[in-house]
Amino acid sequence: MTETADLAPIREAVRALCAGFPGEYWRRLDRERAYPDEFVAALTEAGFLAALIPEEYGGSGLTMSAAAAIMEEIQASGCNGAACHAQMYTMGTLLRHGNAEQKKRYLPAIARGELRLQAFGVTEPTSGTDTLSLRTNATRDGDRYIINGQKIWTSRAEHSDLMLLLARTTPRAEAKSRTAGLSVFLLDMREAKNSGLTIRPIRTMMNHATTEVFFENVPVPAGNLIGVEGEGFRYILSGMNAERILIAAECIGDAKWFIDKAASYARERVVFGRPIGQNQGVQFPIARSYIGMRAAELMVREAASLYEAGKDCGAEANMAKHLAAEASWAAADMCLQTHGGFGFAEEFDIERKFRETRLYTVAPISTNLILSYIAEHVLGLPRSY
Ligand SMILES: Cc1cc2nc3c(=O)[nH]c(=O)nc-3n(C[C@H](O)[C@H](O)[C@H](O)COP(=O)(O)OP(=O)(O)OC[C@H]3O[C@@H](n4cnc5c(N)ncnc54)[C@H](O)[C@@H]3O)c2cc1C
Repeated sequence: MTETADLAPIREAVRALCAGFPGEYWRRLDRERAYPDEFVAALTEAGFLAALIPEEYGGSGLTMSAAAAIMEEIQASGCNGAACHAQMYTMGTLLRHGNAEQKKRYLPAIARGELRLQAFGVTEPTSGTDTLSLRTNATRDGDRYIINGQKIWTSRAEHSDLMLLLARTTPRAEAKSRTAGLSVFLLDMREAKNSGLTIRPIRTMMNHATTEVFFENVPVPAGNLIGVEGEGFRYILSGMNAERILIAAECIGDAKWFIDKAASYARERVVFGRPIGQNQGVQFPIARSYIGMRAAELMVREAASLYEAGKDCGAEANMAKHLAAEASWAAADMCLQTHGGFGFAEEFDIERKFRETRLYTVAPISTNLILSYIAEHVLGLPRSY
């Protein structure tokens, strides 16, 4: 399946921008666990992070395929889009379910880069993947809600002005259905930091700027409720397909980077008087990774084109995310093996990308949960949880 439109100029433009952020830039940040402010500013300035914001709100109004191509090229260039990818998919919830005033107030400012919507507060320490069990609650108090609770793995919270927050507004026992009673808020963290919001960074195996966030009587204006109270789970689910497709595209980019690195090295590295790539024991894993990447890439394109056509793409988006995350992780392992000892040296960037790409079989959704989605929704097997 070829791309639905000619995305070569976008791909080239992203590559040109990324060339200004070479390996040593990312290595320094990785060592210091620092945020790539300059990189994110450059992407914003170029309009790439506003790819999915319609032109009427000052965005580029591009397609999902174009947005996926942007994320893929960032990763294929050796950069790390995890610093800012959330803006692309979180703002879809605001776009689809926000009211006219909210869209007018926030979207143009996000598109101009004056406001950052990079934080997505769903996961909690006690509920994990079982989102419907989350405990953070929002209680109506006149013209505002009061938030109490805790989120975990809220990435980029320290580098975002706004957070898309999922909280319970009706106790689970009183909700009219299993999925009702959760609501989505657009939380202005600049204000909340002075009124009960605490952000604590979590140091992880890669440089991901992730945090845990505590809410102690944090007020949110009722005007920042997105859509209808109690319908939030549905709104979050509707954004999941975009998230899956974009993350899958990032994994394709990572896989391409690893495969390219491994093939180049295998052509050049001479041991026993010949290039290591002349040995089939070295060639075959590279070829196998390439095949896996291409197959996953086809599914990503299929999911993106269904999404663009407004068709249901739940199965394809999940399968794309699964195949692409597996392909990038397999390519990472292969690339490290191909480089032998040098794969472990910081200056080759492989160990860094290896750590970074490992995340995607776990987050934003883990392999088991995708398999269970396919088993239940595609194959009609009994629900297991
Ligand atoms: C670096 C990082 C960044 C993240 N960023 C964000 C973010 O910005 N916002 C946000 O909201 N979340 C974020 N997450 C959270 C991420 O989405 C979750 O970690 C992920 O969905 C898995 O949830 P969990 O960690 O709670 O695992 P758990 O739900 O505790 O599951 C643990 C393991 O058990 C398996 N498991 C659980 N239940 C079942 C079942 N019924 N059947 C089979 N297997 C099962 C899971 O697949 C998993 O492998 C991030 C996580 C990380 C590590």
